[in-house]
Amino acid sequence: MRFVIVTQNHGDHIGGTSLFSPPATVIVHDRVAKEWAGWKGYQVKSWQRRFPERAEALRGVKPLDNGVSFSDRMTLHIGGKTIELVYVDDTYNPGDVAVWLPESGVMHAGFVGYRERHPDIRPDYSHGTTFGMLKQLEVLSALKPKVLVPAHGPLGDVTDLHALTDYLLLARQKVRTMMQAGMPLDAVEKRFDMREYQGWDRANHFPAMADTIYRELKGEGPDVEPITERTAHVIISKIAEEGRFLTVQTEDGRQFQLRAAGDVVFEGIPDRSALKTGMRLTVTYREPADGKAPLGFDITELTVEPN
Ligand SMILES: [Zn+2]
Repeated sequence: MRFVIVTQNHGDHIGGTSLFSPPATVIVHDRVAKEWAGWKGYQVKSWQRRFPERAEALRGVKPLDNGVSFSDRMTLHIGGKTIELVYVDDTYNPGDVAVWLPESGVMHAGFVGYRERHPDIRPDYSHGTTFGMLKQLEVLSALKPKVLVPAHGPLGDVTDLHALTDYLLLARQKVRTMMQAGMPLDAVEKRFDMREYQGWDRANHFPAMADTIYRELKGEGPDVEPITERTAHVIISKIAEEGRFLTVQTEDGRQFQLRAAGDVVFEGIPDRSALKTGMRLTVTYREPADGKAPLGFDITELTVEPN
């Protein structure tokens, strides 16, 4: 493997880079490079440790050591084939790029390539905005891909880009109409649906989508809560989804939820599947200022203590 192209800077799309690089070169958008350059120690450590067989190759290696980045377009000619990387500029594009093979008409469209799925668009703009998606869809549709590869799910073609464009225009129109009628955000969130697209996957995205569009139409920036990093000594009282979600208790009896998502540095166990109820832990986790974390506070470091 010589090149890895990052189409979307999310854990489930970049988590494999340390398996290939080095020696492979990782190609990212400038915004992604900037974000990776700011990674904290636990993130770099978890990236280096993700694949035990790579421990030796990644000793002292940082994610950007074998990275190259670009700002607008990049064209690769490999083995006589052309590969174009397309970034569509927008204030809130988090660095998503499309990969376009003009000779064969194949396009990896990442987040805007979904087929029959309600977009996971969030008020923190971590997946961009509906406005930014519409810009990308316009540029990518003009290339008329014959085969469309999405970030997740089944393959499509250019008609799926058209369908998502129509979808987003309708979603924005619905929120705009409610705002013009003077409805406050919580009412908009409750009322908003996309019943015209019944059968599409992930209808649970509606409230976050309504909230995001509401912010966009008011011209507001992303909703980002300040985070405090805390450390606690706890005992696991409940485990769900093979260690992904933990209920823990402190020595003074306080209970709270934790989540072991992508970037956790585990000490004393190989990974989260080895967690058991009754284990004593020292955990460092991230608590948002408003205390709201429906899935639990994200763990950064977790050490299993001897019982
Ligand atoms: Zn994903």
